[in-house]
Amino acid sequence: MRIVLLGPPGAGKGTQAALLSRHTGVPHIATGDIFRVNVAQGTELGRAAQCYMDRGDLVPDEVVIAMVMERLSEPDCEDGFLLDGFPRTVAQAEALDLRLAALRSPLDAAMNFEVAEGELFRRLAGRSAELHRSDDGEETIRHRLEVFATKTRLLVDYYMHRGLLAVVDAEGRVREVNRRILDGLGIAAVVEASAWTSLALA
Ligand code: AMP
Repeated sequence: MRIVLLGPPGAGKGTQAALLSRHTGVPHIATGDIFRVNVAQGTELGRAAQCYMDRGDLVPDEVVIAMVMERLSEPDCEDGFLLDGFPRTVAQAEALDLRLAALRSPLDAAMNFEVAEGELFRRLAGRSAELHRSDDGEETIRHRLEVFATKTRLLVDYYMHRGLLAVVDAEGRVREVNRRILDGLGIAAVVEASAWTSLALA
């Protein structure tokens, strides 16, 4: 199963990708998480990414693409992946297509998480208070939503034209959204009850 999760910050992609990864055993690859680990560890990649992240801007394509291509070449990705937060630009989507074409292993779907803007802002402000992420201040949140609207939303058309777009109504409780995704993919719910509590259901 090779899936990309599209949608604005705060749409719940990370939470749903983690659940889907438990269901399927396919690795959840979140580019934002990889960058945050690198920033925390003070690596060269982390130093290259930090100023962009703090401003709510996208890290340059060449940096992100190289990082994701390296991750996708690891053995756990042979049977698939759930890409969360990548691609975010058309150049990134094209780089992914080229790699998958070379491997003769095309994407199965691009899931587009749809949430109304007011709800997104409410969720991101809540996360800011909870997690103290350096890019969850009010101005930066607004900027990240603008960056999504100008650069990443183009990918909805990109994947629609390729017949890969699957729209996810991402409003409502985590459990309900998960149900919709599993129904859409035709997967039976097998996540044990403890998984729900450990994911801190909204
Ligand atoms: P996220 O956790 O997915 O919201 O990502 C946090 C930040 O990491 C973003 O605001 C960007 O600065 C950076 N980032 C993550 N993924 C990408 C990507 N695919 N392209 C460019 N920058 C990214």
